[in-house]
Amino acid sequence: MKSWDVIVIGGGIIGLSLAIELDKRGLRIVIIDKSEPGREASWAAGGMLADFPRELPPPLRDLAPASARLYPEFVHELEDESRLKIDLRQEGTLLFASEAGFPREPLPRPLSDLEPGLAADHLSHLTALLLPERSVDPRDLIAAAVAAAKHRGIDFSSGDHVLAVEIASGRAAGVRTNKTQFAAPIVVNCAGAWAGQISPHPFPTHPVKGQMLSVVMPQKEFLRHTIRTPDVYLIPRSDGRLVIGATQEEAGFDKQTVPATIQKLRQLALHAAPGLADARILEAWAGLRPGTPDALPILGPTSTPGYFVATGHFRDGILLAPITARVMVQLITGQSPDFDLAAFDAKRFHS
Ligand SMILES: Cc1cc2nc3c(=O)[nH]c(=O)nc-3n(C[C@H](O)[C@H](O)[C@H](O)COP(=O)(O)OP(=O)(O)OC[C@H]3O[C@@H](n4cnc5c(N)ncnc54)[C@H](O)[C@@H]3O)c2cc1C
Repeated sequence: MKSWDVIVIGGGIIGLSLAIELDKRGLRIVIIDKSEPGREASWAAGGMLADFPRELPPPLRDLAPASARLYPEFVHELEDESRLKIDLRQEGTLLFASEAGFPREPLPRPLSDLEPGLAADHLSHLTALLLPERSVDPRDLIAAAVAAAKHRGIDFSSGDHVLAVEIASGRAAGVRTNKTQFAAPIVVNCAGAWAGQISPHPFPTHPVKGQMLSVVMPQKEFLRHTIRTPDVYLIPRSDGRLVIGATQEEAGFDKQTVPATIQKLRQLALHAAPGLADARILEAWAGLRPGTPDALPILGPTSTPGYFVATGHFRDGILLAPITARVMVQLITGQSPDFDLAAFDAKRFHS
């Protein structure tokens, strides 16, 4: 049986970026995915790199901005190694917030100048903030990460469903899939919303369904900023698409889109930007965010030596991928991580 140094379960953005970082340390890696890598939450995401602390749970208020700072380099490296282009936009986000106590900073220019396509009247009861956030096209990112991983010689086993982590002499020894077995002294569970289904550790992850759609903007730069309101968000892509999202539903592992829900999202987008009335719908889809009981990721060692977990990134997994890869590599290679990860400890759910 061929063996590896590390088995990464799950080829979403978390597993892919971790595998690439581990490969840089000279470790031999295999990524095992139950279907094609990068076709689940990471493919479905909007790609906002939303690191504004007020919108984040307190334990993520250091990690998220640190990850956002890593993004230009992260994208640059993936582009370089994959020879694929990734749409990383730097135009910023216009955040419209309803909560009292949001910082009130005047916009640098009138809203009608910044985004003439927005319905200023409809949004006038909200506090508007211009944030220096980036956004990325997650499908570009995933395609580049898969290509970069392959280019580096990382092995992939697709269509292989991991059922259990194998334990020998009290330590991780590999995994058993629906087809075969893989041996390695280190196993990392990056299986997203499904992470809790792999024995022996039933991590309390659950899927949180998000439905979204994309339309063709009337002109390429009809909107330039990401727009976030309490009801809906709008993310322009550089090729003229506009992504509109997203619902948050407890619907088990169902990924069907519901036409009435997609129409509702479209209506909410029209209230914010009436010029989209005739915009053609390109696509509607749904994905499953990896949720946890306290809405925080699960990062670090498990109670089985050699078995690690990196999942539960919920609404922020695209943003958190580079920093997750960094701290997980530090943990796996026995270094102390750059951040205090106590809030993300897998053992916090043991009663
Ligand atoms: C609608 C929507 C909008 C979002 N918008 C944003 C956003 O704007 N910004 C942001 O930062 N984040 C966003 N997210 C969240 C983000 O997509 C996730 O947090 C992130 O993609 C999680 O990555 P992952 O690699 O953990 O999971 P996934 O991408 O789901 O990957 C998990 C992988 O594990 C594989 N797998 C599962 N079980 C097994 C098994 N037993 N054996 C083998 N393989 C297995 C799956 O096939 C899959 O490929 C959004 C998510 C959704 C759904």
